[in-house]
Amino acid sequence: MRFEILGSSSAGNSGLLISGESKVLVDVGFSGKRIREMLRVFDLGIESIDGIFLTHEHSDHSVGLKALGESGLDIFVNEATACVLQDKLGKRLPWKVFETGTAFSYRDLVVDAFSIPHDAQDPVGYVFKSEGGGGFASVGWVTDLGYVPQLVREKIRDVECLVLEANHDLELLENDTKRPWSIKQRILGRHGHLSNEAAFEVLRGMPDAAWKQIFLAHLSRDCNRVDVVQNLCHALQKQRPQLNLTVVNPHFDALQALVA
Ligand SMILES: [Zn+2]
Ligand SMILES: [Zn+2]
Repeated sequence: MRFEILGSSSAGNSGLLISGESKVLVDVGFSGKRIREMLRVFDLGIESIDGIFLTHEHSDHSVGLKALGESGLDIFVNEATACVLQDKLGKRLPWKVFETGTAFSYRDLVVDAFSIPHDAQDPVGYVFKSEGGGGFASVGWVTDLGYVPQLVREKIRDVECLVLEANHDLELLENDTKRPWSIKQRILGRHGHLSNEAAFEVLRGMPDAAWKQIFLAHLSRDCNRVDVVQNLCHALQKQRPQLNLTVVNPHFDALQALVA
């Protein structure tokens, strides 16, 4: 499989997965117009996309549904997420509802959707597997979680390409003047977001994992910095010289990276 990040930060998230027989988006946290423009960077139109896999209802993962929800794509969600999204959208979309904690097949993909601890109705992480198509045999997407439970560690151990949240630097969050104390407590809580240190504790702690490529993603624009995460990458690189580590800049997306 080929995997591309269209964009990822606390402001918007979407990934593009291309296997031998499927083209799918993981989350659509940008406007429909912007997602269409981003796809054009990869010579794709929205009509060539087969499905969307949603992790949870927060708008930085789902806002694109407003415009893309009726383009005939298969939209995969669990029941609780579908309920809250259709309340928000004011209409029921033709959801493809899965049960969290079960693996299922879609075209040539095997999809595993598993629970992650976050303050949403029923948030999930994903592992996608596919033979053929070249590139990665498995891709994992794990953002928006307060900590990494053992189950999630087991799920991500065998993936070749992993998107992992590195949301905030603890000191930058502490010193941030935009967020009230209550929001900071929410971010830091067991159902909040993963700090840089927590993310790298996981990466350092699994020396036998199958990873070839890691994307550090969902960085906070205010409470994290690319160079801070890159410094942590340099240290990990010494332990895992074969591993490709990419920090996703929260101020850019596929469109801006193209013109930059
Ligand atoms: Zn969220
Ligand atoms: Zn998010």
